[in-house]
Amino acid sequence: ALAVIAGAASLALTLSACGSGQNSEGSSKGGTIGIAMPTQSSERWITDGKSVVQDLQDQGYKSKLVYGNNDPKTQVSQIENLIKQGVDALIIAAIDNKSLNGVLQQAADAHIPVISYDRLILGTKNVDYYVSFDNDQVGRLQALYIIDKLGLEHGKGPFNIELFAGSPDDNNTKYFFDGAMHLLQPYLDNKQLVVRSGQTALNQVTTLRWDGSTAQKRMNGILATSYRTRKIDAVLSPYDGISIGILSALKSDGYGSGSKPLPVITGQDAELPSVKSIIAGQQSQTIYKDVRQLAQAASTMVVDILNNKPPQVNSRYGYNNGVKTVPAYLLQPTSVDKTNYNLVLVLSGFYTAAELK
Ligand code: BGC
Repeated sequence: ALAVIAGAASLALTLSACGSGQNSEGSSKGGTIGIAMPTQSSERWITDGKSVVQDLQDQGYKSKLVYGNNDPKTQVSQIENLIKQGVDALIIAAIDNKSLNGVLQQAADAHIPVISYDRLILGTKNVDYYVSFDNDQVGRLQALYIIDKLGLEHGKGPFNIELFAGSPDDNNTKYFFDGAMHLLQPYLDNKQLVVRSGQTALNQVTTLRWDGSTAQKRMNGILATSYRTRKIDAVLSPYDGISIGILSALKSDGYGSGSKPLPVITGQDAELPSVKSIIAGQQSQTIYKDVRQLAQAASTMVVDILNNKPPQVNSRYGYNNGVKTVPAYLLQPTSVDKTNYNLVLVLSGFYTAAELK
């Protein structure tokens, strides 16, 4: 761990030596940070964007916030524009983690430090730091919830489960999925869990751009082909928007009424429609990630870099992006269901009680 911290420190010095070229002499304040977020179609990214802007403003920095409409090309040209406008640093939540090499070379040429936000940018040396949540743990918490609710540790089963994963171009996807499968695999091996569709490999279960209706269509297909005469007991879903799509498919197949109870279904982000669904007894669980803290970590990191201070990192080994190990600061996710949403989401001020009505 020490080596990583020392490495990060020297990297920080190198970076800030370059980055400070754009600031007025001796002044740490008044810089402008470019923030590129993926989409406004999911509430979490709106909260992320707002929070980063606010935190930077509190520290005396301006920002330019752009949303890429879930389109990789749009995001690339937005980042090109931010570079042309002379931003002092970039905070980027990538849409397609492999599409940014060219534009990040432009950032490097202009001595603009880059923080990979939430999703690791792959295949380039021009990414300096990574801030995110413990993505593996997100998957483990989803799996643990299913294991617990089905009573798998007590030998119960067999149960039918279907697996969903996130976007194949998002580096987080495999961490969520592998984290979950690490815990579910023993129960697949001993047949307490059975995937009737047979779709168990990551490349069979991804959902491009995390799109809820894509997931809904896939679930419709699976129900029609593999569950005509059977019931599904659990669905591993990586993200609330996907869970909502899956729930629609299940409900249109008669689940949630009569003799067909809804399966255990996971999620992620504690988005409002999903929290309401959890309270109503439909979606079972979500993973809460306090993105206000993530935003705070990212803005603190940027300000440190621009002030020649080594940013704080806490991930033992960093995250490898295929070209380098990126020093990382990771936050912890929390599992939420109807037993603890009030404590975790309302008492923390993430939602008001009125919003959840
Ligand atoms: C984020 C998740 C989010 C997903 C879809 C992932 O990269 O880590 O929090 O649910 O993208 O937006």
